[in-house]
Amino acid sequence: MAIDVSLPTLSERLAAVSARVAEAAADAGRSPAEVMIVAVSKTVSRAAVDEVHALGLRHFGENRVQEARGKFADPPLRGATLSLIGQLQSNKARAAVHLFDRIESVDRPSLIEALARATASVDQPLSVLLQVNIAAEGQKAGCAAEEALSLARSIVARPGLRLDGLMTIAPLVVEAEEARPIFCALRLLRDRLREQLPNHELATLSMGMSNDFPVAIAEGATHVRIGRAIFGERQEHRGHG
Ligand SMILES: *Cc1c(COP(=O)(O)O)cnc(C)c1O
Repeated sequence: MAIDVSLPTLSERLAAVSARVAEAAADAGRSPAEVMIVAVSKTVSRAAVDEVHALGLRHFGENRVQEARGKFADPPLRGATLSLIGQLQSNKARAAVHLFDRIESVDRPSLIEALARATASVDQPLSVLLQVNIAAEGQKAGCAAEEALSLARSIVARPGLRLDGLMTIAPLVVEAEEARPIFCALRLLRDRLREQLPNHELATLSMGMSNDFPVAIAEGATHVRIGRAIFGERQEHRGHG
């Protein structure tokens, strides 16, 4: 008798992720509806994107402008929203504004300036998140926690930009629990910023990836950015960013 050794299908992986999101939310006394799955489709094909779209996912994340344009612009993915989650060079701000519904990787004055220029004439403000390097890892993108308030003030002063919250990338750890202090710190930082900027809800906390999202949900994540757990392991033939 043949033994079934086939890999799980996309649909099975997505079902498993959705179940784990729901379980983590319930454990935290939260509604699963409070946690949005952002399917990180970097390096995967448009066909795979279309497949998870057909299964009901509506939020996608990409980390490069050019790759995202090639994959999402033609034909556009109906009813889907696209977030930029990778580092953005200021000279690509204009292209990014045209393509993405949200930019999660805002982390420095020059980029805020470039995005403000690129959105000066839009009718709808562009949703942005401030990316914070909570772990203070030297190589990682994101502003220092100490810079967050001044950058947040600078963003909310731009009519073309709407600051919806914060984003962080936790360091790679062996046990997901080790990332908990990072997620907790991002939430506390958000709470402090909210006190300083009372007209801004800063409702979004984009934190948690395939290896640590249940812990991020326990600490208040509203958006979890999940790639491998949905699409399978990536062929890492090039760097991120
Ligand atoms: C690649 C990436 C993710 C998803 O990582 P997985 O481990 O595949 O879930 C999330 N956020 C950012 C910023 C990424 O670059």
